[in-house]
Amino acid sequence: AKNSGRNTLRFFDPAMQAALDRRATLESELRQALKGRQFRLHYQPQVDIERRLIGVEALLRWQHPQRGMVSPNDFIPLAEETGLILPIGLWVLETACELLKHWQGNARTRGVQVAVNVSARQFRQLDFAAQVQRVLETSGANPALLKLELTESLVLEDVENTIAKMHAIKALGVQFSMDDFGTGYSSLSYLARLPLDQLKIDQSFVRNLPGRKNDETITRTIITMGQGLAMEVIAEGVETEAQCVFLEELGCRVYQGYLFSRPLPAEALDAFIAGS
Ligand code: C2E
Ligand code: CA
Ligand code: CA
Ligand code: CA
Repeated sequence: AKNSGRNTLRFFDPAMQAALDRRATLESELRQALKGRQFRLHYQPQVDIERRLIGVEALLRWQHPQRGMVSPNDFIPLAEETGLILPIGLWVLETACELLKHWQGNARTRGVQVAVNVSARQFRQLDFAAQVQRVLETSGANPALLKLELTESLVLEDVENTIAKMHAIKALGVQFSMDDFGTGYSSLSYLARLPLDQLKIDQSFVRNLPGRKNDETITRTIITMGQGLAMEVIAEGVETEAQCVFLEELGCRVYQGYLFSRPLPAEALDAFIAGS
């Protein structure tokens, strides 16, 4: 790179330049997506041992006008880097709370929870608790049915600050789940101090059940830990009966995965609810 003055770096490596161009394109398309209403939420059912629907996880989808459906794994990292995750995340929260409000009016869906993924950058905003409060008030959603999913890396960035903020949000009546649990490095002493309602066993462990001894051990440990700390334990990525039976034998009571349903648009969820 050669400095061309005025703080601009010019790259002459064509491959690197191409990558930067793609990134710039994606970034401007992401900005466009928000204005152009190209985002959707899909909802993946979470069921109890009787396979009754007890909650859903809201998962972001980008319906790109040319490229079709773009996976969140392909745009959330850039959205985080650029800060676009802030307006996007707020839209997700608002949309999820509108669904909750809508569900409150129907006897079949009244108690069903909605879980929302929260990115680190979003959670670190000084006014995040106030944002959550405002969205709850504006939508009229029951706070007890909203669950925020945090990751271990987010929590560990600044444990003291995280705990304080979690308590402020819990005071609104909202619940917390620790997503992808077991993949990070949270120590047991931290875990016990966090006001968590749920631990979510990561699908990378569930995938190899039953059979892979190490993953069986980790799964068993997480379930025992959750029971000891009075936290609900949910397994994600459950794809087979054998996985489900094994998890149930270990004492896991809540499941999410393709075995029950893929993430569905809100309209298609009605069919799942009618059948559950
Ligand atoms: P995650 O929070 O761990 O979500 C679970 C992912 O596993 C989802 O992928 C879901 O579709 C997929 N999945 C569910 N059941 C199964 C199964 O049985 N087998 C397999 N192989 N996969 C299953 P998805 O929707 O592509 O989302 C990927 C990631 O993007 C999420 O991982 C989450 O980290 C992020 N994400 C999605 N929506 C949002 C959002 O609204 N905000 C933020 N900050 N992140 C989001
Ligand atoms: Ca999640
Ligand atoms: Ca997860
Ligand atoms: Ca995951």
